[in-house]
Amino acid sequence: LQLWMPHRVLFEETALEYPLARAIRERLRGQAEIGYIKSHNRISGLPGNTPRQKYAEAKRTLVVGLRRTLKFETSKPSADYAIPLLTGCPGHCEYCYLQTTLGPRPVVRVYVNLDDIFNQARAYMREKAPGFTTFEGACTSDPLAVEHITGVMREAVTFFGSEELGRFRFVSKYGYVESLLDAPHNGHTRIRFSINTDQVLKKWELGTHQLSARVRAAAQLAGAGYPVGFILGPIFLEGSWQEEYQQLLDQIHAELAAHGVDRGHDMTFELITHRFTPKAKALIEERFPETDLPMEPEDRRWKYGQFGYGKYIYPKDPMEEAEEFFREALAEHFPEAEVPYFV
Ligand code: SF4
Repeated sequence: LQLWMPHRVLFEETALEYPLARAIRERLRGQAEIGYIKSHNRISGLPGNTPRQKYAEAKRTLVVGLRRTLKFETSKPSADYAIPLLTGCPGHCEYCYLQTTLGPRPVVRVYVNLDDIFNQARAYMREKAPGFTTFEGACTSDPLAVEHITGVMREAVTFFGSEELGRFRFVSKYGYVESLLDAPHNGHTRIRFSINTDQVLKKWELGTHQLSARVRAAAQLAGAGYPVGFILGPIFLEGSWQEEYQQLLDQIHAELAAHGVDRGHDMTFELITHRFTPKAKALIEERFPETDLPMEPEDRRWKYGQFGYGKYIYPKDPMEEAEEFFREALAEHFPEAEVPYFV
């Protein structure tokens, strides 16, 4: 597995009071340029003039800071709350929804005041007790892309492992899970891998780990007793999509079997069709001028969101056809898996 290394790492000065920040500095000493900043929200002086260069340089930068806003966002449909441990990702997927949420300089940011964040999670759990509260750890990042440097997911898995009423989940396109295998997860964390067809991976996912590495990671985690899962997404309903997704499911099924994963293992499949906002389309076209991502508004249906903003999704008929196709194909290959949603 090729593991990401930042070109530079910037430490918020107060973050260095935390052992995790100092451990990250030790890990990166001699491997990346090290700098210090007053606030992780004010990063200046990164190289790059054009939007494309600025974006690329930010993706080579790791920022280590303190999380001060401790109000968690909601995270439907996958969980009750998004737990803010990291933001950003070194990958370069053209369709990535972080294109619009992280601004012109999407650095990779990790927060080291984990106890503050975990205490806040406990407060949310108390509000919902005696029911479970679920937390999503990958709403604004791909946490496994940097786990070899941060170790934050191991900390979070361990924390939730000892919380009766807390359930944790996160998703990744990276296959580095070695440090999680012996974590005391207690079955409270579900790790999912985002997967897609060969065609989608080759065209629009850059800088991520190969599909087989993600499937192997899922199998390793299943072997270590974790509930696991896959997110099929973004699902593109273009060309011969039925054939291509059928091939993908055949392949996942065969590889999991080859790795000895038990058919009845606790496994979920979340299904997310491709969608985009006008803002995302403009930004993607600026950063990837050659992109051939399907983003023609006339091929889509406009859907208003919760807060007045909207997005383009596939029209009703192809959506219904796709839902039926995926539910049937999954029922055939993975009859015991749960499909919590199709959107
Ligand atoms: Fe975005 Fe995920 Fe790709 Fe990272 S791996 S660039 S978070 S889609």
